[in-house]
Amino acid sequence: MDKGQKLRQIPGMDIVLNYEWLQTWLEKLGRLRVKRIINQRLSELRERILHDDDIEFSPEAFKESCLNALAFASRPSLRRVINAAGVVIHTNLGRSLIAHEAVKSMSEAASYYSNLEYDLRAGSRGQRNSHVEDLLCALTGAESAMAVNNNAGAVLLALSALSKNSEVIMSRGELVEIGGSFRIPDIMELSGAKLIEAGTTNRTHLYDYERAITENTSMLMKIHPSNFRIEGFTCSPERKELANLAHEKNLIFMEDAGSGLLVDSEVINLPANSGEISIKACLERGADLVTFSGDKMLGGPQIGGIVGRRKILDKLKKYPLARALRVDKVTLSAFEATLRLYSQGMLDEIPTLRMLRRDDSDMKAQAERLAGELAKKINAEVKVSVCEVEDAAGGGSCPEIKLTGWGVVIKHKNFGAGYLQKILRGLEVPILTGARENELVLHVRTLQDGEEQIIINELAGVLNA
Ligand SMILES: *Cc1c(COP(=O)(O)O)cnc(C)c1O
Repeated sequence: MDKGQKLRQIPGMDIVLNYEWLQTWLEKLGRLRVKRIINQRLSELRERILHDDDIEFSPEAFKESCLNALAFASRPSLRRVINAAGVVIHTNLGRSLIAHEAVKSMSEAASYYSNLEYDLRAGSRGQRNSHVEDLLCALTGAESAMAVNNNAGAVLLALSALSKNSEVIMSRGELVEIGGSFRIPDIMELSGAKLIEAGTTNRTHLYDYERAITENTSMLMKIHPSNFRIEGFTCSPERKELANLAHEKNLIFMEDAGSGLLVDSEVINLPANSGEISIKACLERGADLVTFSGDKMLGGPQIGGIVGRRKILDKLKKYPLARALRVDKVTLSAFEATLRLYSQGMLDEIPTLRMLRRDDSDMKAQAERLAGELAKKINAEVKVSVCEVEDAAGGGSCPEIKLTGWGVVIKHKNFGAGYLQKILRGLEVPILTGARENELVLHVRTLQDGEEQIIINELAGVLNA
């Protein structure tokens, strides 16, 4: 059969829409969506016939591919998954989980009217920012604070409002790309500030900053290098020295702190040399302005926090870009609730902190329990054991810190880890796991309440099949 004949075998849309097996889907998804899905399948089929001599129209294969696509389209696209990969702040999996208290606040803020921008005591217009400002100031020692959409937005706002058309000096060792397309030079350009590079990749001295200062300089900026470390022959000035230099020359010293630590790094078991310091410590060392993410180490929703001197924050609050970056009420309520947990010292109620601080023996016991249950449920083709694993904080935090955790290792006689991982990703509640030497590894650190049982049931189904 030539290609023309093969193509003519493909049914037209009108015929497909009358197929018996499609009728319930038309009701379920609506005619327009079904037509789009069928159209995609039909064009894909045409493409494949044109490019591959072995392909021709098969009613069964076509039906199956349509039904798969329809079933996929009928499920919500943004869905819960189980993180058995041991990366706590996993950017692709939504970074931080929101604390239960905060979820309650979100639900109220979403379902009812609120005093979002209404001052209940005065009976007049209020400030959206007022719901988090005092808490942020108390937790960081700042004079003033605000929240915007995310940290990228916070940096953009600060640079635009404070340094448009003037020079911002940064160390060459800190000109980083964070991932997800946050590159400091690009944000700088977008803001209208002029980036002046000081020093070299591995070493930048105070005098490098000093020499780079001109009458057109407005700011010295420091940025947390996040998921990147320069090791060996390195140096950079202390924050205090940078702050002193900036203030001597009437400049602003700003720090993009990245992760947003609101507690001392020891509280989450980070060693002193982790490179992570709290927002409070940044301000104490002389930063005029610090920005950070809400959903990394802070463990809250996606926001960008900005704390610092009142005069500077007043400028930012009035700057028109602030309006474009404002936080929505549901997110703001989650942020306030998370900050309240901090101020009450209830750190283990904050999922990110709880998972980062998890006890070794507790994780070991959990891995042994899960392995025991799995061994009972699955057949002899599979070997289950426990082992120590390397977890990660993630989210561009502390790349060099080893977070040791525990995991369950699953070794299947016939199936490799890649194959099993693919099946687990296709489940109703997809399960994402680690792997090593072609064995599946389930890291227990990042499992949530009730997820062990889901894993047991699903794995029994998959492995015994
Ligand atoms: C993660 C990160 C950002 C981006 O923050 P978002 O909240 O994702 O916008 C910016 N700077 C640093 C240093 C970071 O680590």
